[in-house]
Amino acid sequence: MAKYCIDCGEGLSGRADKKYCSDFCRNNYNNKVNGDVNNQMRNINNALRKNRRIMDDLSAGETVTVHIDKLIELGFHFSFYTHTYTTKKGDVYYICYDYGYRQHDNKFVTIVTRRWPGHKVPGNNNNTNPPKDDN
Ligand SMILES: [Zn+2]
Repeated sequence: MAKYCIDCGEGLSGRADKKYCSDFCRNNYNNKVNGDVNNQMRNINNALRKNRRIMDDLSAGETVTVHIDKLIELGFHFSFYTHTYTTKKGDVYYICYDYGYRQHDNKFVTIVTRRWPGHKVPGNNNNTNPPKDDN
C-alpha cells in the first residue's frame, strides 16, 4: 500500500509507520492541528496573568477596596479566574493565582492576596488563612 505524507501528500518510502516526509511537514502538521488550542491557551494564560498583575498593582499585597470601574479601565477580564473561594458567610472570591477579589453590591471590589486553601506555595506554609468574614 502506497503511503503519503499526511501534511503535503508527498509519497513516502522507508519505515511503515512513517507519517511525514520531513521534520518540516511534521511541525507544520502539528501546528495546524494544535495551533488553535495553543493560541486559546496562550490567550487565557495572558488574561489570567494580566488580572493578577492588575490586582498586584492596585493592592501591592495589601487588602484594598476599589471601584469596579478601575478594574474595567485597566482591562480586567472578569470571566477569567483560576478558581473561586467561598467564605463561610457565603462571600465568593474570584481568584487569579494568589490574588482574589470579591464584588460588593455597590460596585466596589475588595482585592486580597492570600495563600488560598488547597493552593499551597512551597516554602511558605505560614500564611494559609483564607479571608475572614468581614463586615
Ligand atoms: Zn511532507
